[in-house]
Amino acid sequence: MKQSKLFTKTRREVPADEVAKNAQLLIRAGYIHKEMAGVYSYLPFGLRVIENIKQIVREEMQFIGAEEILMSSMQRKELWEQTNRWNDKIVDVWFKSKLHAGGEVGFGWSHEEPIGEMMKNYISSYRDLPVFVYQFQNKLRNELRAKSGIMRGREFLMKDMYSFALGEEDHEKFYQSSIEAYHRVYNRLGIGNDTFVTFASGGAFTKFSHEFQTITEAGEDFIYINREKNIAINEEVLNDDTLKELDITHDDLEKVKTAEVGNIFNFGTQKAEDLGLFYTNSEEKKIPVWMGSYGIGISRVMGVLVEKFSDEKGIVWPESVAPFQVHLVALDLDNEEVRKQAEQVYQVLEQKGIEVLYDDREGVRAGEKFADSDLLGMPWRFVVSKRTAGNIEVKKRTESASQVVSLEKAIEIIN
Ligand code: ATP
Ligand code: MG
Repeated sequence: MKQSKLFTKTRREVPADEVAKNAQLLIRAGYIHKEMAGVYSYLPFGLRVIENIKQIVREEMQFIGAEEILMSSMQRKELWEQTNRWNDKIVDVWFKSKLHAGGEVGFGWSHEEPIGEMMKNYISSYRDLPVFVYQFQNKLRNELRAKSGIMRGREFLMKDMYSFALGEEDHEKFYQSSIEAYHRVYNRLGIGNDTFVTFASGGAFTKFSHEFQTITEAGEDFIYINREKNIAINEEVLNDDTLKELDITHDDLEKVKTAEVGNIFNFGTQKAEDLGLFYTNSEEKKIPVWMGSYGIGISRVMGVLVEKFSDEKGIVWPESVAPFQVHLVALDLDNEEVRKQAEQVYQVLEQKGIEVLYDDREGVRAGEKFADSDLLGMPWRFVVSKRTAGNIEVKKRTESASQVVSLEKAIEIIN
């Protein structure tokens, strides 16, 4: 990608009402565009980050046997009435609208009811189970406050997965494998060490659900952790009962500020009973399907990464999600030799399948190019200039020291 061809530009100013660091940096770097409070559009680089995060999640969900689908945003009112969740007093984040043809629709803030209903078409016998499906889908929620940038959107991207099992044992197997898959996801995203499986309030069926909470000052939650025992409890369920059950005392817990990056639920058979999702077992008996639901906030995770991995100069992307691995910054482009070398380096990197952003802009000062490079935050910076004399100055975004080496050596270093 040549930077001179980009329609997005870096900038100093951010919208006056934007208070969150993640959105400020992402807007300044041209990754996202703010439509209104809590609503953001993703520009080419922002989309590349989103796609990289999605790909990591996709690989891990496929690994545990889930199949990808994409459901609609428009949902039927009648369906949510069956589970008593159409009522605005019970679900306070609904966006709803009326059809010209008559009737009401809701815009999906979750897909638990629609997917349960849909599965009635595909699940009828014990032979059809278990089923695991997931999607990446924009959720719409009428959130009261939207002050956390892309970490709390009124429209945001979620990975939601649903499991349909024969019974508790069947369910539990998948539930455990999902916890492991989530750990792998957060490890690959570089936040594994700061992300805790946290006891949180459950649903109608179980006492607890499990949240995945990542330590960050930008979070909106507080949890209580014990690092040695690897126990984490959120505020809602922190009481004598829970402490006793987990065999821990209040004094052994440390209070930390976190962002909820994932949440998994065991529904038992309640939802299937409400929706009428049953299967017949080998004795021709009708049994309600055991359901679970598993979310990851894809766009929130992107915000958390920016909050955690940035410095006073800009973003510092982990290699696993960076839009480009290498930022090739060419200076002195009016010099014929330097220009030729830069073009050649660009082509070689592309041929080797290394994702490279090439700052080929003419008439932009070196200081400005470096400032932009730091703001954009690619893991590696390659500088080509008169001074590097046919070689490349290689620098990691996380370090201040650089070294001047041959192209061959530079490629070796980043690999
Ligand atoms: P919160 O408590 O932060 O409002 P939630 O418990 O309502 O979130 P879930 O319904 O569990 O959220 O959704 C699954 C995941 O989607 C969450 O763990 C979170 O990572 C993400 N998420 C939820 N709401 C938002 C939002 N408004 N903007 C961005 N991501 C969100
Ligand atoms: Mg939650």
